[in-house]
Amino acid sequence: MPKKVIPILMYHSIELMPKSTVMRSLHVSPRSFKIQMQLLNILGYKGLSMRELTPYLEGEKTGKVVGITFDDGYRNNLINAAPILNQYNFTATCYLVSERIGSSNTWDIDKGITQCPLMTHSEIQEWISAGLDIGAHTLTHPLLEELSEQKSKKEILNCKIKLEGIFNIPIKDFCYPYGRFNESHLTLVEKAGYRTATTMTRGRTTLESNILKLPRIPVTNRTLPHLFLAKILTKYEDRR
Ligand SMILES: [Zn+2]
Repeated sequence: MPKKVIPILMYHSIELMPKSTVMRSLHVSPRSFKIQMQLLNILGYKGLSMRELTPYLEGEKTGKVVGITFDDGYRNNLINAAPILNQYNFTATCYLVSERIGSSNTWDIDKGITQCPLMTHSEIQEWISAGLDIGAHTLTHPLLEELSEQKSKKEILNCKIKLEGIFNIPIKDFCYPYGRFNESHLTLVEKAGYRTATTMTRGRTTLESNILKLPRIPVTNRTLPHLFLAKILTKYEDRR
């Protein structure tokens, strides 16, 4: 029997960007995103937020499901991705950097990476009203490995408290900035009360995956339809 696998897709920005864009690969065009959601739908997959995916990850539910995640909270997720997700009755989780709401990806400035607007409070509220979900991506998007235990705890726990306070919903899903963490962060995430945490480790999840360090499948502007299918249906990502 092949192991039951559940792919979790990792997106960032959904926007057609000019050629001059630094790290253009992180921007998937709305047209490509639509084709990808259409393919999932044709194959009989349901795209789910991490909250809705959790019972499948824990083996309580079975079915053809795919997790859909967006890192950082870009405004274009609301403008370009939300209508397409709604069209297919899919949900998704957008991981927010709570101290950067309404700002931009300032943590990338030093690296010269193109800045893009992040959702404001009211835009996040629109995202939630569209039936989509939010998760935590720390207060300021630091490299957790470079912080003291105390500062890491604050970044992980206070993001949850802040988002719950503003949006009045329980925040159960966490995503490590840059996908970087160590064992002590795993404990902090668990103690903060999160149920899932995603990384940038490549692969599809199985029932054996540690729910606090879930692998994901990166989708970039170079993920053409045949590659998208290979990433979901084959061991393409698992071997990497
Ligand atoms: Zn991020």
